[in-house]
Amino acid sequence: MKITYVGLIKVCFLVFLLLCATVLLNISWRQRDSSQSLQHCNSTCSAKYLETKLKEAHLTGRHKKWETYRLDAKPTSATGQGHQHFAKEPLQIKDLFIAVKTTKKYHGNRLNLLMQTWISRAKEQTFIFTDWEDQELRQKAGDQMVNTNCSAVHTRQALCCKMAVEYDKFVLSDKKWFCHLDDDNYLNLHALLDLLSTFSHSTDVYVGRPSLDHPVETVDRMKGDGSGSLKFWFATGGAGFCISRGLALKMSPWASMGNFISTAEKVRLPDDCTIGYIIEGMLDVKMQHSNLFHSHLEHLQRLPTESLLKQVTLSYGGPDNKWNVVRVNGAFSLAEDPTR
Ligand code: UDP
Ligand code: MN
Repeated sequence: MKITYVGLIKVCFLVFLLLCATVLLNISWRQRDSSQSLQHCNSTCSAKYLETKLKEAHLTGRHKKWETYRLDAKPTSATGQGHQHFAKEPLQIKDLFIAVKTTKKYHGNRLNLLMQTWISRAKEQTFIFTDWEDQELRQKAGDQMVNTNCSAVHTRQALCCKMAVEYDKFVLSDKKWFCHLDDDNYLNLHALLDLLSTFSHSTDVYVGRPSLDHPVETVDRMKGDGSGSLKFWFATGGAGFCISRGLALKMSPWASMGNFISTAEKVRLPDDCTIGYIIEGMLDVKMQHSNLFHSHLEHLQRLPTESLLKQVTLSYGGPDNKWNVVRVNGAFSLAEDPTR
């Protein structure tokens, strides 16, 4: 069979058309396949998709950062309630300013006991705020005793007067933390250092035990026309509380140079309550609730013996109050040490 030149061109053209058709068909099949698999994945592949994305992120280092962030943000239970703390700073006893509020009639029994126990281990950090120039105490405590010249009575004004002097003395010191205690508080210094070292003293920290199980609601006498109300938490002074230096300095307009007394007068609240008012109400800083501080209004008997060394403060209300007597396995009998 003889193939002409024209015939050859026709055959080539047909083969070319056939090839084109095959390529076109192939492309359209592939497109259909991929859209079908995408539809399938939209409904059931999200976990797989995320896994792939996480793997990609891991390769680029983003996943690693995310993991680190999660670890950093893990709450500790330092306040006894699983609060979030981010900073861990080395803290020493010398960084603390511990104010003990007392009065003439308690120098003998209450204060003596503290001097023989925990104060003896933090002599230079502990300042005793009283209302009487007691020569015997002056001999023992030297400049650590501060005669506030406030009245020796249990009134709101007299107690606010002492708090005002405590605050001013702290601000003038170079200490990182202000901690207030009553003279019937036992302080566990190591537990306090452990707790405070989970915060940074240059940030806003107000930590203690709430006095009530709900915030106080009061007429807002400081802002606006005085018709609004204000809700705030406060740490009960009878259990002890601490304030970071950073926050204490911010309190200055309402607390320094005697302003604490006028603030307390304006809001008509007790000393510890006024502290909460200034911090939560005026500065909008939230109190850190801790169950490691204890006043003698609690049933301290309920605290398990093995947890006692973890508590920051314990308190006593005298031998008559058996509810706040903790169980300790010690060498002293109740007769030898009625305050145990
Ligand atoms: N206080 C004071 N002046 C007084 C009576 C008491 O400064 O006239 C102090 C006392 O030393 C203690 C705190 O206020 O540090 C609380 O006093 P107390 O334990 O007698 O009372 P409560 O705990 O029942 O409020
Ligand atoms: Mn008390």
